[in-house]
Amino acid sequence: MSKNIFKPDPLLDSALRPKSWRDFVGQEKIKKNLQIMLESARKRKESPDHLLFYGPAGLGKTTLAHLISWEMNAGIKVTSGPAIEKAGDVASILTNLNEGDILFIDEAHRLNKLIEEILYSAMESRVLNLILGKGPSARTVQLELPAFTLIAATTRMGLLSSPLRSRFGAIFKLDFYENEDIEKIIKHNAQVLEIEIEPQAIKVLALASRATPRIANRLLKRSRDLAVVEGNGIITDEIGKRSLGLFEIDEVGLEATDRKILETIIDKFSGGPVGIAALAAATNEERDTVEEVYEPYLMRLGLIERTPKGRIITDAGYKHLNLHNLKKNKQEKLLD
Ligand code: ADP
Repeated sequence: MSKNIFKPDPLLDSALRPKSWRDFVGQEKIKKNLQIMLESARKRKESPDHLLFYGPAGLGKTTLAHLISWEMNAGIKVTSGPAIEKAGDVASILTNLNEGDILFIDEAHRLNKLIEEILYSAMESRVLNLILGKGPSARTVQLELPAFTLIAATTRMGLLSSPLRSRFGAIFKLDFYENEDIEKIIKHNAQVLEIEIEPQAIKVLALASRATPRIANRLLKRSRDLAVVEGNGIITDEIGKRSLGLFEIDEVGLEATDRKILETIIDKFSGGPVGIAALAAATNEERDTVEEVYEPYLMRLGLIERTPKGRIITDAGYKHLNLHNLKKNKQEKLLD
């Protein structure tokens, strides 16, 4: 079993995916804007504008696409940037759409140029331009497409080409969740999973969830298993804490790589500022992973800051590491 808290669990995601706006907790501004857009589209009897969602993984981009399809009573086809390689792939997806369908493309920053170009005319004027054959005998065919809404999601807004970006009617940024929203999600999903959870345990799990619903769900599921196998079927404070141990995360959700990043900024770069490329090299991590996965949450906790010259560690960052090391030393002494 993987210890990695970030590893997706598609079955769990789909089992716990909110099926109505009421169950979609938080992100109030986005919810309100979307509801107005959808209501207007329904009144005009048209498909909603093409939409782009961006923000860290696990915050609800896919969920929003599904909610929109339910709300509009429309079909949804789900694919992702890397899955669409050739012109034929995108042609077959587009020509198989029904009137009013939602086409959801995850990881849109990984679409290749050729596919992007085919999408432009499909998005703007609902036509599919295809070149058949090669060389002098090549010819262009134009196919009309049904009305559809493209919903794209990306964790890397900066990597999306600007011509593609400009073709969306609305762009929404998903932010990390407030702690109380994560608590609500855990409480609600404990009911869905039919497991009892103590109020204090909800707090423990929420604080360690990196302000991310997907991680909250993973922690809840692992705690449930522990409670069933090793406890009396109730997620207690202690069971909750033990589940953090299984993922090797601390009480605020930091794992070994987060701490390595903090330590590296202190030890190798005297607390910063350090550029992202140097930081990635010194920690032996992919630059994308540091930028996409670790840095946003470390910034959210206020442990590092981004300055024009690079990342610096904050006083809170020093304090967090000191506390962690103190605790670790104490534990090691106890074990001696
Ligand atoms: P993304 O597409 O941004 O990576 P998902 O939409 O797949 O994230 O969300 C991951 C899981 O987190 C979902 O299956 C759902 O269970 C949960 N989730 C996400 N957003 C919310 C929310 N606002 N309220 C309740 N649960 C949520």
